[in-house]
Amino acid sequence: MIKSRAYRPGGEVANAAVCKTAIQGCKSPPGLSNMNMKTILVTGGCGFIGSHFVRYLLKKYPRVRVVNVDLLTYAGNPENVKDVAKNPGYRFYKADIGDYEAMSAIFKKEGVDTIVNFAAESDNNRAVRSPIDFARTNALGTAVLLEAARQCQIKRFHHISTCEVFGQLSLNSRASFLEASPLRPRTPYNASKAAADLIVKSYYHTFGLPVTISNCCNNYGTHQFPEKVIPVFVIKALKNQPLPVFKSSGNKREWLHVLDHCRAIDLILQKGKIGETYNIGSGLEKTINQIADRILKILKKPKTLKKIVPDRPGHDTRYLLNCQKIRKELGWKPQIKWEDGFRETVGWYKNNPGWWEPLLAKSNSWKK
Ligand code: NAD
Repeated sequence: MIKSRAYRPGGEVANAAVCKTAIQGCKSPPGLSNMNMKTILVTGGCGFIGSHFVRYLLKKYPRVRVVNVDLLTYAGNPENVKDVAKNPGYRFYKADIGDYEAMSAIFKKEGVDTIVNFAAESDNNRAVRSPIDFARTNALGTAVLLEAARQCQIKRFHHISTCEVFGQLSLNSRASFLEASPLRPRTPYNASKAAADLIVKSYYHTFGLPVTISNCCNNYGTHQFPEKVIPVFVIKALKNQPLPVFKSSGNKREWLHVLDHCRAIDLILQKGKIGETYNIGSGLEKTINQIADRILKILKKPKTLKKIVPDRPGHDTRYLLNCQKIRKELGWKPQIKWEDGFRETVGWYKNNPGWWEPLLAKSNSWKK
């Protein structure tokens, strides 16, 4: 039994004995797959995108072992991976990515060769209320995970990042963010993710750790925690309650179906160049107002359900990614059409109140 405990600054990282044991134990089990990757550790695999990726891997690569490490914060939901829980290629550990000893022990026990790091505090509204949690998990947690990966000679560390690290674009500009654009985060969430991106890059340049990074736009799909805009709007509409639309409802986001994101990460793991960063986006922009209107139309509810609420501090106006690199170099492009994916997503929340009803008590969006 591997016990997880919180990271203490200056503590576990310097523990040479643990590092040594971790290195000795880090051998991949032979003959599991034709792929280079045999045992993939996914962090945050009980969250929205991580759970889709766990399912994606197990379905596409039946001979690959998937180790899911998740602290099960309010956003981590074992129900999201219930369908794969008994798959012989699947393991789950409740542990903190910021716990060096726990991470090293899991790498050793499971013979991990590849890490995909989704684990994060991910909600901008929460970041305004408790910014330190974001710095701790997203920046320091990633740093600890990297150090454990380095000591264990992991073959690939892929870090999941966001378009939000680049800051905001003005609403009507023609600009978009390149991988090389300067990092100009404006919120505690974005800043903690930008810090993590820099720490990941430092491990490549300083230690030669084989890293890749992807910066993705807003994802939509099933199993997203009901504090994020699409599930909140759908559930409020189903309950005939007002949809809280921020005052700057013309702010735009670029939207990608979560499975198209999973395919892009898979491609980067297979063909991505070590040390490189890849933007992942659809080019499809929608305002928050358009999202609300579309949901109300699909659910046949009146537009009068929209209620303007004050803006969140630091609410970014717009992000748009230039994705020529992943399209040209790796041949990726989104496969799921917005109309199909969005309608299916709204339908899933409509048909699965048993999934979201128990989560509402944990969500700030539903507190009176
Ligand atoms: P999520 O909040 O749904 O899931 C995060 C998961 O991480 C949860 O299961 C949580 O329990 C786990 N976790 C949190 N702290 C942890 C810790 N210290 N140790 C281990 N596990 C921990 O988030 P999501 O929307 O699935 O996002 C996943 C990743 O993708 C994040 O890194 C996020 O920044 C990035 N991302 C998200 C989007 C999006 O639209 N959702 C877009 C671009 C990038």
